[in-house]
Amino acid sequence: MAENFRCGYIALIGRPNAGKSTLLNRLVGEKLAITSPKPQTTRHRLLGVLNLANAQLLFLDTPGILTPHGPLNESLVQAAIAALTEADVVVWLVEPRAPTPRDQVLLPYLSALEAPLIIGINKIDTLAKPPLLPLIAAYHDLFPDSPVVPLSALAGDGLPALVGEIVQRLPLSPPFFPEEQLTDQTERFLVAEIIRERLFHHTGEEIPYAIAVAVEEFDESRRPDMVRVRAVIYVEKDSQKGIVIGKGGKLLKQVGLEAREEAERLLQSRVFLDLWVKVWKNWRKDPRALRELGYQA
Ligand code: GDP
Ligand code: MG
Repeated sequence: MAENFRCGYIALIGRPNAGKSTLLNRLVGEKLAITSPKPQTTRHRLLGVLNLANAQLLFLDTPGILTPHGPLNESLVQAAIAALTEADVVVWLVEPRAPTPRDQVLLPYLSALEAPLIIGINKIDTLAKPPLLPLIAAYHDLFPDSPVVPLSALAGDGLPALVGEIVQRLPLSPPFFPEEQLTDQTERFLVAEIIRERLFHHTGEEIPYAIAVAVEEFDESRRPDMVRVRAVIYVEKDSQKGIVIGKGGKLLKQVGLEAREEAERLLQSRVFLDLWVKVWKNWRKDPRALRELGYQA
């Protein structure tokens, strides 16, 4: 292995709709991959891995950071910051417009980061050149030490530049994972992640950590135009089951709707999503559950 190989974790943050998923899918493309997540405290997961000749980029799924929904409340910010400290590089993806007051809320936290920050101005395909330049300047003024990379996750413009900025800020290190280790469980696992993420978004603060999602059926064979997914949401207590289902099944329905839409975008196919909620008493303390739910190798 070349001695100037670089490897590290990258957290991708930004408001909903900034284009994080699009960027990730574009960057890791076919190589989209997941390793076994770790249980307990941080529950960091690798959301995507980009293997290059001279670097391995490990994109982190940091719940509540990857897609901070709504105004950030204090505890969410705390959780986000804790997780961000594990990243070697943080990429802040923004819309192609000047920072809004809601973005301003993030600024103190971003400036407190130890990891180097890269700002990606996304969706430049929607913008003419002239307004882009003051925009770059505005973000540059916020963080003079951070590179500002204009890009289009959708069109693919600017991605080599972004990757270049990331790689030069990663620590010198051999790859953490052998390339071939990262090839199983891709789409199936990602759909479980999507469901879990939507649940995070819709449930309160206590519930998310009691939730595990297992995709029990992932069937592309029945119909050429549709993937059939049956997933079970495991909770630890009966009371949590009620919360996840919601009044008249409303919450679960909404989660299913949003997860299906996102799964369809990911899989580039129609998706039939069948969601079930089951109680698995204290699954977080049950070694068998942790194994079966993929939290332990
Ligand atoms: P996320 O919530 O940050 O993960 O954002 P998504 O990746 O889901 O993207 C939100 C919307 O923005 C989707 O409709 C994308 O197609 C769109 N989008 C993402 N990147 C670009 C881009 O570079 N250009 C344009 N025009 N649209 C984009
Ligand atoms: Mg997303």
